[in-house]
Amino acid sequence: MNQHSRFNLPICLAVEEDAFCRSDEIIGSYLPEVIGQKTLIVSEQFLINTYKCKITEISRDFGGAEIYPMNCADFDEAVAIAKKVCIEDIKVIIGFGGGRVLDTAKYAAHISKAVYICMPTSLSNDSLASPFAVLEAVGNARKTFACKIPTAILVDTDMIAKAPKGQTLSGIGDTLSKHTALFDWKLSAKKTGTHIEDFAYAISRMSFDSVCHCDEKDIKSRVFIRILSRALVMGGLAMEIAGSSRPCSGSEHLFAHAIEEYYPEIKISHGMAVALGSIPSCIFQGQDASSLIEITNAYGISTDPVSYGITKDMFADIWQKARTVRTGRITILDEVKYDKVQLDEIYDRLVRK
Ligand SMILES: [Zn+2]
Repeated sequence: MNQHSRFNLPICLAVEEDAFCRSDEIIGSYLPEVIGQKTLIVSEQFLINTYKCKITEISRDFGGAEIYPMNCADFDEAVAIAKKVCIEDIKVIIGFGGGRVLDTAKYAAHISKAVYICMPTSLSNDSLASPFAVLEAVGNARKTFACKIPTAILVDTDMIAKAPKGQTLSGIGDTLSKHTALFDWKLSAKKTGTHIEDFAYAISRMSFDSVCHCDEKDIKSRVFIRILSRALVMGGLAMEIAGSSRPCSGSEHLFAHAIEEYYPEIKISHGMAVALGSIPSCIFQGQDASSLIEITNAYGISTDPVSYGITKDMFADIWQKARTVRTGRITILDEVKYDKVQLDEIYDRLVRK
């Protein structure tokens, strides 16, 4: 196998004002063979209602594409969509929505071998362009499935500016969490005597840097939306090149997985959870956490566990559980022997006085 056959890159990455109004034109200029092919638009009913005009326009532009309101982001739904696509000779799937829709549509396209065009309505995490889909598999338990990355990604900056602020903050949090993820990835390589993928590392680091050192902090501005879109896509591509989620997921993600698994009552988005987890991870790694706290707060993301309803005991328990949620993944949690006293100290430091 040669170097280049190991990974794919999207053919089109367009981040433009009103991109969805000209989606056929943009896609046609990159992938002329797609235009005129039978297309299915996968979305959710509330998004179809909210963005009725835009989605109807996209449907018209793609030859009267059927609009499919998916029920839930689970494996069976993705398979049902793939079945429909194969039986009805549909060649193109457009995913129009947030993370749930995009993961389901991406996996359906992967199974059915349809061309997948990703049209996010929010920028809540880096799964947008990643080679993974997180779907409910057995009951409500979620599982990560490997899949092909999108052929085209179209970001409409006006659409993102209108999305709820919390979703954009979640995308920022997911990007800022790369700092500790990359440290853990290097640590793991050192422990196992292997090399990390240098390019995947560099791309993920640049993704972090672009958001960390961004002068524009107005998250509704076009400049910022462009930077964040690219940062999230770069995160996805880093995972594609590395062939794993390691460039974007370390001990801070284990913290988020532990919340999801053991404290489902805590209402915190993925991006906020990994951003919050990044601070203790940074401290465990022996790095100075103050600039990370500063930048996270500068975007308006709280690093105070109390603001998410996380008590001192829960905080300590989540970190103990984080050691066990994904065994086989070496992170700083395998190295440090933190105890309740140390976790309480970190908690107190994070709580806003
Ligand atoms: Zn993430």
